[in-house]
Amino acid sequence: MGDTKHTRVLIIGSGPAGYTAGVYASRAMLEPVLVQGIQPGGQLTITTEVENWPGESEIQGPDLMVKMEAHATAVGTEVIGDYISDLDLSKRPFTATGDSGTTYTADAVILATGAQANWLGMESEEKFKGFGVSACATCDGFFYRGMDVVVVGGGNTAVEEALFLTKFASKVTLIHRRDTLRSEKILQDRLFKNPKVEILWDHTIEEITGTTAPLGVEGLRARNVKTGEITEVAAKGVFIAIGHSPANMLVKDQLEMQDGGYVKVMNGSTATSIPGVFAAGDLTDHIYRQAVTSAGMGCMAALDAERFLSEQEK
Ligand code: FAD
Ligand code: NAP
Repeated sequence: MGDTKHTRVLIIGSGPAGYTAGVYASRAMLEPVLVQGIQPGGQLTITTEVENWPGESEIQGPDLMVKMEAHATAVGTEVIGDYISDLDLSKRPFTATGDSGTTYTADAVILATGAQANWLGMESEEKFKGFGVSACATCDGFFYRGMDVVVVGGGNTAVEEALFLTKFASKVTLIHRRDTLRSEKILQDRLFKNPKVEILWDHTIEEITGTTAPLGVEGLRARNVKTGEITEVAAKGVFIAIGHSPANMLVKDQLEMQDGGYVKVMNGSTATSIPGVFAAGDLTDHIYRQAVTSAGMGCMAALDAERFLSEQEK
């Protein structure tokens, strides 16, 4: 049997929401424990330049997250490398089970598990995952030096990934299902000006094609959603950048949810449908989904948890 560890506030997740909650809960003398999960630092660790974090006109995503972790630790957050595989919110203290074998009990829980990349859901995508199909240009872009690649999607992530890939690839084809991009205008402007980028508007992916031995991508077939016409695109790499879904696995059967699987919180608060359980960041936000808004909600969650605990103790 593993250890049992009790904390007044358990923070699950180590993105901007989790670390900010750690800073505020520590400064409220709550001695929080923060469990990092399998992606210490969260989504910003798979990007390069972050240009909209106030106070830093440009900073690398992983560097920003190292700073946030150092800040949370310096003020007293106990940061633990573990993954919570089960969470029981039916009674207090709440109980979380870590993959390490540790059981965490907590008087209050802050959920900051963020979001994970979406996939198209095709058989051929599954077949070539890790062999030419990726959801992270920062992680895998380097392997495509001098090759043609495709990025699928029309949001900020897709445009940033396409621009990043132009550093390595000979050509980047962005395939989007509509005829306008959802991404910020400043990013669109950079994309349209880049001579290595070609955009295939109004197309969806029919199938990713390639070789079986060795396993590898050679291209894809895209369908024009207006005419039905099929276009073959040659590419050694296909980067899927079609958004993210909230990582709600621990709580989707225990808490009230909003459409899309986001945890529902009370207006102007981070309180969920269970008293003592708070949610912050991309897990609860289907609108803004930014580092700074996630950090803001992390702050709110820690203040809400502090208020909850002091009312309990009265
Ligand atoms: P996340 O960053 O998603 O972190 C979630 C955390 O929860 C992770 O640490 C994970 O390990 C942990 N976790 C999950 N499940 C468990 C579990 N069961 N047990 C323990 N831990 C768990 N936003 C900007 O403002 N500016 C940008 O430039 C920008 N660029 C981006 C680039 C990319 C490629 C992507 C994907 C996103 C970008 N974003 C950007 C969005 C930003 O990254 C997110 O809004 C932000 O990271 C959300 O923070 P979060 O703390 O809610 O969760
Ligand atoms: P997003 O904004 O939700 O965009 C997803 C894109 O994928 C959309 O263009 C969507 O098309 C397309 N798409 C969705 N499902 C698809 C499918 N099945 N097939 C084909 N295309 C599909 O997701 P994101 O770009 O990952 O961004 C997530 C959040 O992080 C956003 O809030 C974003 O602002 C933030 N972010 C910010 C920055 C930054 O500030 N620099 C960088 C990256 C991410 P439609 O447009 O037709 O819906």
